[in-house]
Amino acid sequence: MSWEDVLSSIGHASEETEFFTPLPTGYKPGKTKYVIVFGTVMSGLGKGIFSSSLARVMQEKGFSVAPIKLEGYLNRDSGTLNPYRHGEVFVLDDGMECDMDLGTYERMLNMSLSRRNFITSGQILSSVLEKERKGGYLGRDVQMIPHVTGEVKLRLRELAVTSEADVVFVEMGGTVGDFENAYIIEAVREMSYEEGPRNFCFVALTYVVEPPSLGEQKSKPAQLNLKLLNAAGIHPHIIACRASQPVTKKVREKIALFANVPMERVFSMHDCDSVYVIPEMLRGAGIDVAVVELLGLGDQIDREAEENARAEWNDYINRFRNARHPITIGIIGKYTSLRDSYASIIQAIEHAGTHLGAKVRLEWIDSSEMTDANAADHLTDVHGVIVPGGFGFRGVDGKIACVKYVRQHGVPFLGICYGMQIAVIEFARNACGLNHASSAEIDRDCPEPVVDLLPEQKGIEGLGGNMRLGGYDVMLSPGSLVSRLSGDADRIRLRFRHRYEVNPCFVDRLEQAGLVFSGSTPDGRIMQVLELPESRHPFFVATQAHPELTSRPLNPQPFFVGLVRAALIASGVSPESVSAAKDDNPSRAGSLGQPTVSS
Ligand code: GLN
Repeated sequence: MSWEDVLSSIGHASEETEFFTPLPTGYKPGKTKYVIVFGTVMSGLGKGIFSSSLARVMQEKGFSVAPIKLEGYLNRDSGTLNPYRHGEVFVLDDGMECDMDLGTYERMLNMSLSRRNFITSGQILSSVLEKERKGGYLGRDVQMIPHVTGEVKLRLRELAVTSEADVVFVEMGGTVGDFENAYIIEAVREMSYEEGPRNFCFVALTYVVEPPSLGEQKSKPAQLNLKLLNAAGIHPHIIACRASQPVTKKVREKIALFANVPMERVFSMHDCDSVYVIPEMLRGAGIDVAVVELLGLGDQIDREAEENARAEWNDYINRFRNARHPITIGIIGKYTSLRDSYASIIQAIEHAGTHLGAKVRLEWIDSSEMTDANAADHLTDVHGVIVPGGFGFRGVDGKIACVKYVRQHGVPFLGICYGMQIAVIEFARNACGLNHASSAEIDRDCPEPVVDLLPEQKGIEGLGGNMRLGGYDVMLSPGSLVSRLSGDADRIRLRFRHRYEVNPCFVDRLEQAGLVFSGSTPDGRIMQVLELPESRHPFFVATQAHPELTSRPLNPQPFFVGLVRAALIASGVSPESVSAAKDDNPSRAGSLGQPTVSS
């Protein structure tokens, strides 16, 4: 059967055919190209970074792109995953709680994604089981092949239709050879056949080891693991070799020979100083040209758009690399030993630092170690402090002690989500005379619950997807610090993930004592941003939202810019020169020199 015949038979579920490939309405086979990225040898190769960088390079060429991550695990989303084990939970504008890689895609591609861009086995299987109950499979026994694989293919094609992308980038979660993602690999194998030649490009990331005892690169693990992909019926078009050092020609030759992939399509992808450098590294290696050729897209490149986009991006990298003004930002949290739990905060600081020309060093401070007595020891050397989001009561006293210190000593402060709730508790206790103030999350029977459950959360039981989630508009008070930072905006959009809120019953009392609630929901009910007047504190801002989730390299998030600016001033840089950098175009700013974030 030719692939044209296959195409004409798919889309039908009937007694007569073994194919079960439901097509979404409006789908035109062959219209959309697909790039599928696999990981071999081990996890942690940076598949998301690679895939998003490749998507960026194609986007710069004028193609519209849509990324999707396929996770093998059975959770329906990432909401119940422990950030200590899996990294931060990234929240999309539509409220989807997903893997931190989606943050990498949003930042790299400067686009907002939705639940269509994130699929787990849990979602696929639930949907198949629901369809079975509704008689969706015409009396057939429901099988992994073709029904579950059919569901995977349906989701990919739905993304192609809704996004209208020229190229869909599919990141396969896990590693080739994992039991749990075998059916997903099978689905893309089937689909590449159905879509026909020049519409699929398979890219295998692999890892080249360099045991210190040998002092040379060895390709055997890569060879053996690439064979697993062959055994699954997939012959990669491109192999990208991850390694700490550039991969030698000899090693690439061996991999080319054993994997049957031409040498010119076996690339070295060694470690580099910033993820944002990788698109240019891919271009330098020629991976973009290989993808364009394989997909037959050569005559559709917009060269002028590509040059402009590249120049803007490279400008960011240059400023990032030439940092001059060192500042230290302290992050006070519970998961400080695992940087991935704060991935977007680290990125947002880097973006703001780059914008203002600051070389930011991060100091990780474990909140469970902080007390009123030692706060000064921990905080004297930092120029700014972030109290990030969190859950539960562990380490809360340390965070309250931290906020008390920074409020009373004029240390620039940004509170994020739980950080805002902590700021309210601290202010209530120490500036409002509410000595027993607390959050119902910390003490359910607290007599002065200045932070309480959101009303709509009161009846909810169980976990997963049921917090106040996703993007919401925030009204900013005219003239407030946060409004000025946001370009005098009166309405901005931020993303949320919380169950508790500032208790409306205490808002007047807190405001009378000098706290300013400068951002709220459009109906004025939920307090979403607070600040102290600049006459009382150089920079004291907290938000119920997660502003780090919407910071992008070329569009740094204003609250982070405000914090870094105040930290620069605290470090001794004159306010005039910081303002000069701030007023510049974000993509051009840098009069203070260039930033990097190290940790
Ligand atoms: N635990 C708090 C709440 O549920 C804050 C959540 C967070 O920081 N993301 O409201």
